[in-house]
Amino acid sequence: MLRVVLFGPPGAGKGTQARRIAERLGVPAISIGEIFRSHVAERTDLGRRAQPYLDAGNLVPDEITVAVVRDRLAQPDAKAGFLLDGFPRTVHQADGLRGLLAETGVRLDCALELIVDEEELVRRLFSRRLSGDVAGVRRKDDHPNTIRHRLAVYREQTAPLSEYYEAQGLLMRINGTGAVEEVTDRAMAALQAAVSRRSS
Ligand code: AMP
Repeated sequence: MLRVVLFGPPGAGKGTQARRIAERLGVPAISIGEIFRSHVAERTDLGRRAQPYLDAGNLVPDEITVAVVRDRLAQPDAKAGFLLDGFPRTVHQADGLRGLLAETGVRLDCALELIVDEEELVRRLFSRRLSGDVAGVRRKDDHPNTIRHRLAVYREQTAPLSEYYEAQGLLMRINGTGAVEEVTDRAMAALQAAVSRRSS
Protein backbone atom coordinates (compact mmCIF):
# COMPACT_ATOMS: atom_id res chain seq x y z
CA MET A 1 0.00 0.00 0.00
CA LEU A 2 1.55 3.28 -1.08
CA ARG A 3 0.71 6.94 -0.71
CA VAL A 4 2.33 8.95 -3.44
CA VAL A 5 2.14 12.46 -4.85
CA LEU A 6 3.10 13.22 -8.43
CA PHE A 7 4.05 16.70 -9.52
CA GLY A 8 5.60 18.28 -12.55
CA PRO A 9 4.94 21.16 -14.93
CA PRO A 10 1.92 21.32 -17.23
CA GLY A 11 2.61 19.14 -20.26
CA ALA A 12 4.99 16.80 -18.41
CA GLY A 13 2.56 13.90 -18.82
CA LYS A 14 1.32 13.80 -15.22
CA GLY A 15 -2.21 12.63 -16.07
CA THR A 16 -1.03 9.81 -18.33
CA GLN A 17 1.65 8.64 -15.93
CA ALA A 18 -0.61 8.96 -12.90
CA ARG A 19 -3.14 6.54 -14.40
CA ARG A 20 -0.45 4.05 -15.43
CA ILE A 21 1.50 4.13 -12.17
CA ALA A 22 -1.67 3.93 -10.06
CA GLU A 23 -2.85 0.93 -12.02
CA ARG A 24 0.43 -0.87 -11.44
CA LEU A 25 0.28 -0.03 -7.74
CA GLY A 26 -3.40 -0.97 -7.43
CA VAL A 27 -4.34 2.39 -5.91
CA PRO A 28 -6.69 5.12 -7.20
CA ALA A 29 -5.18 7.93 -9.31
CA ILE A 30 -6.73 11.10 -7.97
CA SER A 31 -6.52 14.12 -10.26
CA ILE A 32 -7.58 17.33 -8.59
CA GLY A 33 -7.71 19.13 -11.96
CA GLU A 34 -10.14 16.44 -13.20
CA ILE A 35 -12.32 16.84 -10.12
CA PHE A 36 -12.47 20.59 -10.72
CA ARG A 37 -13.18 20.14 -14.44
CA SER A 38 -16.07 17.77 -13.76
CA HIS A 39 -17.57 20.21 -11.25
CA VAL A 40 -17.28 22.98 -13.84
CA ALA A 41 -18.99 20.77 -16.46
CA GLU A 42 -21.79 19.88 -14.03
CA ARG A 43 -22.11 23.52 -12.96
CA THR A 44 -22.02 22.71 -9.27
CA ASP A 45 -21.43 25.38 -6.67
CA LEU A 46 -17.80 24.31 -6.39
CA GLY A 47 -17.51 24.37 -10.18
CA ARG A 48 -18.78 27.93 -10.32
CA ARG A 49 -16.21 29.00 -7.71
CA ALA A 50 -13.33 27.17 -9.37
CA GLN A 51 -14.01 28.02 -13.02
CA PRO A 52 -12.47 31.52 -13.20
CA TYR A 53 -9.19 30.14 -11.82
CA LEU A 54 -9.12 27.20 -14.23
CA ASP A 55 -9.92 29.40 -17.22
CA ALA A 56 -7.12 31.82 -16.36
CA GLY A 57 -4.62 29.07 -15.58
CA ASN A 58 -4.36 30.18 -11.96
CA LEU A 59 -4.40 27.98 -8.90
CA VAL A 60 -7.72 27.57 -7.14
CA PRO A 61 -7.36 29.00 -3.61
CA ASP A 62 -5.86 26.58 -1.10
CA GLU A 63 -8.91 26.56 1.24
CA ILE A 64 -11.12 25.25 -1.57
CA THR A 65 -8.53 22.82 -2.90
CA VAL A 66 -7.52 21.32 0.43
CA ALA A 67 -11.21 20.79 1.31
CA VAL A 68 -11.74 18.91 -1.98
CA VAL A 69 -8.73 16.71 -1.27
CA ARG A 70 -9.89 16.05 2.29
CA ASP A 71 -13.28 14.79 1.00
CA ARG A 72 -11.70 12.68 -1.71
CA LEU A 73 -9.15 11.05 0.59
CA ALA A 74 -11.92 10.21 3.06
CA GLN A 75 -13.54 7.91 0.48
CA PRO A 76 -13.09 4.19 1.06
CA ASP A 77 -10.95 3.48 -2.03
CA ALA A 78 -8.25 5.88 -0.82
CA LYS A 79 -7.80 4.01 2.45
CA ALA A 80 -5.59 1.46 0.75
CA GLY A 81 -3.24 4.08 -0.68
CA PHE A 82 -3.45 6.65 -3.46
CA LEU A 83 -1.57 8.52 -6.12
CA LEU A 84 -2.34 12.23 -6.06
CA ASP A 85 -1.93 13.89 -9.44
CA GLY A 86 -1.57 17.66 -9.34
CA PHE A 87 -1.84 18.08 -5.58
CA PRO A 88 -0.07 19.59 -3.75
CA ARG A 89 0.86 22.48 -5.99
CA THR A 90 2.09 24.87 -3.31
CA VAL A 91 4.16 24.40 -0.18
CA HIS A 92 1.13 25.53 1.81
CA GLN A 93 -0.96 22.74 0.25
CA ALA A 94 1.84 20.28 1.00
CA ASP A 95 1.67 21.29 4.66
CA GLY A 96 -2.12 20.90 4.44
CA LEU A 97 -1.71 17.38 3.08
CA ARG A 98 0.73 16.48 5.81
CA GLY A 99 -1.82 17.65 8.37
CA LEU A 100 -4.68 15.74 6.72
CA LEU A 101 -2.67 12.52 6.68
CA ALA A 102 -1.48 13.00 10.25
CA GLU A 103 -5.13 13.15 11.37
CA THR A 104 -5.47 9.52 10.32
CA GLY A 105 -1.99 8.56 11.50
CA VAL A 106 -0.49 7.95 8.07
CA ARG A 107 2.34 9.48 6.04
CA LEU A 108 3.33 9.97 2.45
CA ASP A 109 5.70 7.34 1.04
CA CYS A 110 7.12 9.26 -1.90
CA ALA A 111 6.90 12.48 -3.92
CA LEU A 112 7.62 11.89 -7.60
CA GLU A 113 8.72 14.86 -9.67
CA LEU A 114 8.44 14.55 -13.45
CA ILE A 115 11.18 16.54 -15.16
CA VAL A 116 10.75 17.79 -18.73
CA ASP A 117 12.57 20.82 -20.11
CA GLU A 118 10.55 23.89 -20.93
CA GLU A 119 11.03 23.83 -24.71
CA GLU A 120 9.61 20.31 -24.85
CA LEU A 121 6.72 21.29 -22.56
CA VAL A 122 5.69 24.18 -24.78
CA ARG A 123 5.86 21.89 -27.82
CA ARG A 124 3.68 19.25 -26.14
CA LEU A 125 1.13 21.74 -24.84
CA PHE A 126 0.75 23.39 -28.23
CA SER A 127 0.20 20.02 -29.87
CA ARG A 128 -2.29 19.00 -27.17
CA ARG A 129 -4.14 22.21 -27.91
CA LEU A 130 -4.73 21.08 -31.49
CA SER A 131 -5.40 17.40 -30.95
CA GLY A 132 -6.76 17.27 -27.40
CA ASP A 133 -5.34 15.27 -24.51
CA VAL A 134 -4.92 11.46 -24.36
CA ALA A 135 -8.70 11.14 -24.32
CA GLY A 136 -9.00 13.61 -27.22
CA VAL A 137 -10.45 16.24 -24.91
CA ARG A 138 -9.57 19.83 -25.77
CA ARG A 139 -8.85 21.96 -22.75
CA LYS A 140 -9.80 25.58 -22.58
CA ASP A 141 -6.63 26.31 -20.58
CA ASP A 142 -4.40 24.98 -23.39
CA HIS A 143 -4.51 28.42 -25.02
CA PRO A 144 -1.10 29.95 -25.94
CA ASN A 145 -1.19 32.79 -23.41
CA THR A 146 -2.65 30.55 -20.72
CA ILE A 147 0.00 27.90 -21.41
CA ARG A 148 2.80 30.42 -20.76
CA HIS A 149 1.02 31.68 -17.67
CA ARG A 150 0.55 28.14 -16.29
CA LEU A 151 4.26 27.47 -16.78
CA ALA A 152 5.10 30.66 -14.87
CA VAL A 153 2.67 29.72 -12.08
CA TYR A 154 4.38 26.34 -11.90
CA ARG A 155 7.86 27.85 -11.64
CA GLU A 156 6.82 30.28 -8.93
CA GLN A 157 4.40 28.28 -6.84
CA THR A 158 4.91 24.57 -7.45
CA ALA A 159 8.62 24.12 -8.23
CA PRO A 160 9.55 24.86 -4.57
CA LEU A 161 7.93 21.50 -3.68
CA SER A 162 11.08 19.88 -4.97
CA GLU A 163 13.16 21.27 -2.11
CA TYR A 164 10.34 20.79 0.36
CA TYR A 165 10.14 17.05 -0.31
CA GLU A 166 13.88 16.67 -0.70
CA ALA A 167 14.32 18.02 2.82
CA GLN A 168 11.91 15.34 4.04
CA GLY A 169 13.76 12.59 2.20
CA LEU A 170 10.70 11.84 0.09
CA LEU A 171 11.69 13.23 -3.29
CA MET A 172 12.35 11.09 -6.36
CA ARG A 173 13.05 12.89 -9.64
CA ILE A 174 12.17 11.17 -12.89
CA ASN A 175 13.11 12.08 -16.42
CA GLY A 176 9.74 12.57 -18.14
CA THR A 177 11.01 12.46 -21.74
CA GLY A 178 10.97 9.38 -23.96
CA ALA A 179 8.34 6.71 -24.52
CA VAL A 180 5.37 6.61 -22.15
CA GLU A 181 6.24 3.03 -21.09
CA GLU A 182 9.84 3.99 -20.32
CA VAL A 183 8.76 6.88 -18.11
CA THR A 184 6.37 4.57 -16.21
CA ASP A 185 9.18 2.05 -15.72
CA ARG A 186 11.44 4.80 -14.36
CA ALA A 187 8.70 5.90 -11.98
CA MET A 188 8.15 2.34 -10.74
CA ALA A 189 11.89 1.88 -10.19
CA ALA A 190 12.02 5.18 -8.29
CA LEU A 191 9.10 4.12 -6.10
CA GLN A 192 10.74 0.83 -5.33
CA ALA A 193 13.95 2.64 -4.37
CA ALA A 194 12.00 5.06 -2.17
CA VAL A 195 10.24 2.25 -0.36
CA SER A 196 13.39 0.24 0.28
CA ARG A 197 15.19 3.40 1.41
CA ARG A 198 12.43 4.03 3.93
CA SER A 199 12.35 0.52 5.27
CA SER A 200 16.13 0.19 5.60
P1 AMP B 1 -4.36 19.96 -14.08
O1 AMP B 1 -5.42 19.08 -14.66
O2 AMP B 1 -3.60 19.27 -12.98
O3 AMP B 1 -3.47 20.56 -15.11
O4 AMP B 1 -5.12 21.19 -13.37
C1 AMP B 1 -5.91 22.08 -14.13
C2 AMP B 1 -6.27 23.30 -13.31
O5 AMP B 1 -6.99 22.92 -12.13
C3 AMP B 1 -5.09 24.12 -12.80
O6 AMP B 1 -4.57 25.02 -13.76
C4 AMP B 1 -5.74 24.84 -11.62
O7 AMP B 1 -6.57 25.90 -12.05
C5 AMP B 1 -6.64 23.75 -11.03
N1 AMP B 1 -5.90 22.92 -10.06
C6 AMP B 1 -5.53 21.62 -10.19
N2 AMP B 1 -4.85 21.19 -9.11
C7 AMP B 1 -4.77 22.25 -8.27
C8 AMP B 1 -4.19 22.47 -7.00
N3 AMP B 1 -3.52 21.50 -6.35
N4 AMP B 1 -4.31 23.71 -6.45
C9 AMP B 1 -4.97 24.69 -7.06
N5 AMP B 1 -5.52 24.57 -8.27
C10 AMP B 1 -5.44 23.36 -8.88
